Amino acid sequence: MELQGKVVLVTGAGSGIGKAAAARLAREGASVGVLSRTEDEIQATVREIEQAGGQAIPLVADISDAGQMRQAVERLVETYGRLDIVFANAGINGVWAPIDELQPEEWDKTIAINLRGTYLTIHCSVPHLKQAGGGAIVITASINGTRTFTSSGATAYSCTKAAQLAMTQMLALELAKHRIRVNVVCPGKIETEIEESTTHRSSEEAEVPAEYPEGNIPLTGKEPGTSDEVAELVLFLVSDRSRHITGTPVWIDGGQSLLV
Ligand code: NAD
Repeated sequence: MELQGKVVLVTGAGSGIGKAAAARLAREGASVGVLSRTEDEIQATVREIEQAGGQAIPLVADISDAGQMRQAVERLVETYGRLDIVFANAGINGVWAPIDELQPEEWDKTIAINLRGTYLTIHCSVPHLKQAGGGAIVITASINGTRTFTSSGATAYSCTKAAQLAMTQMLALELAKHRIRVNVVCPGKIETEIEESTTHRSSEEAEVPAEYPEGNIPLTGKEPGTSDEVAELVLFLVSDRSRHITGTPVWIDGGQSLLV
């Protein structure tokens, strides 16, 4: 039980990578604030954690809404008395379209959820991490915008992911004196529900075609990674085993971003 006594906030914990990480961290003894904007999703995550003998509470909030995020973090700290670890993971793919077709409100929505949402998650949490005498933050970025630039039409998405890497490095320096580490995981293709938050509109027009007949994930061919594999990496980065690692991106993609 590596995280016994620790309190964790996981955003986007209703499905995919966030759900797997919430369950994995709970199995290590952490009490988990399970946050997403969809109540039935997080009730299910909480039930699964409790059935496995863990501790969790549901926190309904839209990560792009400052008031809702402040309330959710306060509720978590009131419930468990402290906050030690933050997994800022929630995000959407949004609209993938050629730049002349991508509408201003579509651009704004992706930036609001992925970038402002990450900022708000950390902004509301850091006072409590300082109060706890230190902690760990992990952000979910992507191979898009950090190593690969080939997902046609995904300009807004990729810009948010590039910015999350910059944010990680800025905050790793700023928060080091408070013994708060900040790292970022950059997944390649992972089997989750993310296609549900994706709209493709004429994105083939923005494409430069490239073909990989054997599949574009060198380690697995055509098989995507799993949320559980990302959860193992998150556990490592929030645990004391990574105590000298901060400001660091880890690509978790079976080599995908080296190829495309
Ligand atoms: P998912 O759609 O399965 O899960 C996303 C979760 O975030 C859901 O619980 C959803 O309800 C929640 N969410 C979305 N918008 C929210 C908001 N405004 N406020 C609160 N909660 C919100 O997707 P996933 O694949 O698990 O994505 C998690 C993260 O991983 C995202 O940041 C995504 O960009 C990143 N990522 C995913 C992949 C992939 O292939 N799946 C690859 C690279 C990066």
